[in-house]
Amino acid sequence: MHNLERPRLLLVEDDPVLGPLIAELLAADYNVQLAADGQSGLHLGLTARWEAMVIDRGLPVMDGLELVMALRRKGVTTPAIILTALGSTAEKIAGLDAGANDYMTKPFDAGELRARLRAMTRVVAPAPAQLSVGDWLFDPGNRSVQSSYGHHVGLTAKESELLALLATEPDRVFTRQELLQGLFHPDDSPSVIDTYIHYLRKKPSKSVIRTVHGIGYQIGDGA
Ligand code: CA
Repeated sequence: MHNLERPRLLLVEDDPVLGPLIAELLAADYNVQLAADGQSGLHLGLTARWEAMVIDRGLPVMDGLELVMALRRKGVTTPAIILTALGSTAEKIAGLDAGANDYMTKPFDAGELRARLRAMTRVVAPAPAQLSVGDWLFDPGNRSVQSSYGHHVGLTAKESELLALLATEPDRVFTRQELLQGLFHPDDSPSVIDTYIHYLRKKPSKSVIRTVHGIGYQIGDGA
């Protein structure tokens, strides 16, 4: 990957050995900018866009907690990890309350720092709350389907899984074997699929699942 395409990370660390070392450790994942004191960290934090920040607690001019607080006051919401030699619970609470998202005590494991950064910056795509299933709305989280008139029907776990699998790829026709592999034990008879399809059609409506003769099943299109 080209250096500029990597997410930008601001590292504020005054230790002349540790600073460049951490920068090097993180360079595989990030385009790292190193600042050696709180004041330049604040300046960089406010004037450029960052995907993540790693901020040492003990810094000259302005310490790490003040720096995080100052950034948050200015509306900078970039995820930040505080690094510190102070490992007491009270110190961790102070760091988190200052506005840091996470906290690591020196000496730390480089792999853990990288994993924590990944976790902090991971964008969790929200699962679609409701899927369209024929004329019905299916809510996999609540295992229920709802008609356009607001009529709710509850589903069992297996019924819900089967409907969810079909609904994730509405254009695809699933063979019974594929559905069996996805949801049941491979040794089960494919007729178990037919049984669940039968239940599902009886519960909300026949239209939720379409039979594609000679191939298998597809989610209903409401037609
Ligand atoms: Ca320091």
